Amino acid sequence: MKECIFCKIANGEIPSATLYEDEKFRVILDLGPATKGHALILPKSHYENLYELPEGLAGDAMVLAKKVITEMKEVLKCDGYNVVQNNGEAAGQTVFHFHMHLIPRRDGDNAGISWNPGTLTPEDKEEILSKFSLK
Ligand code: AMP
Ligand code: ZN
Repeated sequence: MKECIFCKIANGEIPSATLYEDEKFRVILDLGPATKGHALILPKSHYENLYELPEGLAGDAMVLAKKVITEMKEVLKCDGYNVVQNNGEAAGQTVFHFHMHLIPRRDGDNAGISWNPGTLTPEDKEEILSKFSLK
C-alpha cells in the first residue's frame, strides 16, 4: 500500500519512536497518546483490519501485546492496561492499517476509555443467539 502511513512507519520509511521491532511487527509510541506510554502494534504487511488479518498474524499480535504490556507495566509503573483495537469508521478507526492500541492506565487518570452499559434484552439475546453460528 503505497500511500499508507502505517506501512511507511512499520517498514521504517518514516521515522517513529520504536519500542520494539521484529520481522513481522513494529511497536511504536502513539503521537496522540490517550495516556503517557500509549503504544501501537503495527504489522509490517498491510491489512486493513482484523477481518483481513491472517489468523497466524492475529495470534502473533496478541502474544506480542502480552509481552510488551508485561514489560512496560514495570517500566512505566502503571496500574493497568487497555488493549484496544478498532475496526471500521463506526468503531473509531481512523488509520486503515490494522493496529492494536496498548494504553497504560493509572488509578484516576480519567482517560475515558469506557462505554455506558445498556441492558441485554430478552429480544436481543434471542435474535442474536438464533442468528449467529460460527463455522
Ligand atoms: P485508530 O483511531 O484506532 O485508527 O487509531 C489511530 C491512532 O494512530 C491514533 O491513536 C493516532 O494518534 C495514531 N497515529 C496517527 N498517525 C500517527 C503517526 N504518524 N505516528 C504515531 N501515531 C499515529
Ligand atoms: Zn498499510
